[in-house]
Amino acid sequence: MNNKLSAVTAVLLCLTLITCGGKTATTPTPMVNSALELSEANPEPAPPQESTRPNNQNTGDAGHDHADHDHESDDHAENQHGKIASSGYKPKTELINLTDRKDEDYQDWTAQAESLIVDRQSDILTVVYPVGKFVREARDDEWTMPFNVHERIITQDQVESLLSQIENWMKRYPCIDKELRQEELTEYRKYFEKGGDTSTQRTLCKNARLLLMAMPRFTGNSSEDERMPDWDAHYFLVHELYHAFQQDLFPPEDCQEKVERAIDESPHGGFNMVEGGADYFAYFLTAKNFSTRGISSIKGAKNNLLHDVQRTYREEGTDSIRGSATAAAGLLLLLIERGELKHETIMDGSLFHDCARNTTYALDSPAVSSALNTWNEWAKDANANNGRELVKGNSDDGIFKFNPSIETN
Ligand SMILES: [Zn+2]
Repeated sequence: MNNKLSAVTAVLLCLTLITCGGKTATTPTPMVNSALELSEANPEPAPPQESTRPNNQNTGDAGHDHADHDHESDDHAENQHGKIASSGYKPKTELINLTDRKDEDYQDWTAQAESLIVDRQSDILTVVYPVGKFVREARDDEWTMPFNVHERIITQDQVESLLSQIENWMKRYPCIDKELRQEELTEYRKYFEKGGDTSTQRTLCKNARLLLMAMPRFTGNSSEDERMPDWDAHYFLVHELYHAFQQDLFPPEDCQEKVERAIDESPHGGFNMVEGGADYFAYFLTAKNFSTRGISSIKGAKNNLLHDVQRTYREEGTDSIRGSATAAAGLLLLLIERGELKHETIMDGSLFHDCARNTTYALDSPAVSSALNTWNEWAKDANANNGRELVKGNSDDGIFKFNPSIETN
């Protein structure tokens, strides 16, 4: 969790799952809290459902409160293309919060992020819980995700309550069959009981997304205070939320499989657009809400992002673009600065409506291919004495920026 305080590291962790920092264990047994109130004049339409077993891409999810309505009798809202018809359904976000941060913080951050997104579709349950100090890295046989083991803070009663509430939430969705439900809950139990430092979005169905986020405990003792700063907790949450907003993480689009195959076959490696998009969104929204973000007195999302891109670039060279969500976000920024991509399509989520990462922005597309080639060319000798700098530091005007020669192709 210590490492997770850094935005860069947090990003590295969230390949498919997401965890977050938490609060003290003094919070009573959690209740599901309504993050967003429904205010429809019309009867509530049915949530979209899928019946296929997910061959999905898990990432992260945030919460709100489900009103009770009968999903069993709801009509499916998919059209013949497997996409969600315009049903008028208003997605719900629910929250289970065991940390000492106020529900309202998570709820307000969620509402703001959600307000930016066009054509919202997924219901989201966000679970945030506290963990203590780092203990060790997880063993390979412990769980499949790259979550470290931390001191467990939550009680057994809280574990059982969490699992029970998550199970009840899952049961509202016919698309989550019993087998999947049991598999997932068995895995979550391990995280909760062993102090798993989770940071994940589970794409349980196309439109039922669960976020598990472990947050460092706030002790109140300044020498031990590991409380995640507000800006970092916000960054963590909205990154994970963005995964829940990404519509094309689930079949029948089968998008991710094609992308992964393309990465395997690509001569210049690849980059993770799903992670890059989430991180780009998080950098810009966090900079808007927390202007200093704790890394310098210089303001600005681009500056913050490029500062961290430079660090991953120096530390990891060519590997950074494949392993770091922040580096991937940097590549998206480069595409934007080259006029190949629109900032707005990331911020409103529309870049992830229809698998653009396998069409317009496929690895072998002219725009991405060129950007990746340039990026890798520059990263090759990042650590050499005569290495070129992908990002110029804050030497002259105090602002990090791409080296001008990389911005043109
Ligand atoms: Zn992520």
